[in-house]
Amino acid sequence: MGIIKVIVIVLVVWLGFSLIKKFRKPTEAINNKTSSSNKMLACSVCKTHIPEDEAIVQNGKVYCSKEHLE
Ligand SMILES: [Zn+2]
Repeated sequence: MGIIKVIVIVLVVWLGFSLIKKFRKPTEAINNKTSSSNKMLACSVCKTHIPEDEAIVQNGKVYCSKEHLE
């Protein structure tokens, strides 16, 4: 009887972990997407909003292009 109890406990714990993994993975993927491609920054010269990946950040200020950086 003890072995069955252990098996049930292991199964429940394993199911719990696999459920946590299922719920965590999609949210992590969504968070990565929103933080890397959807975050918009405003140029401190012309106020144009540009994606974070394309923005030039220097001394805490955001620039849309090298021309505005100078
Ligand atoms: Zn600009």
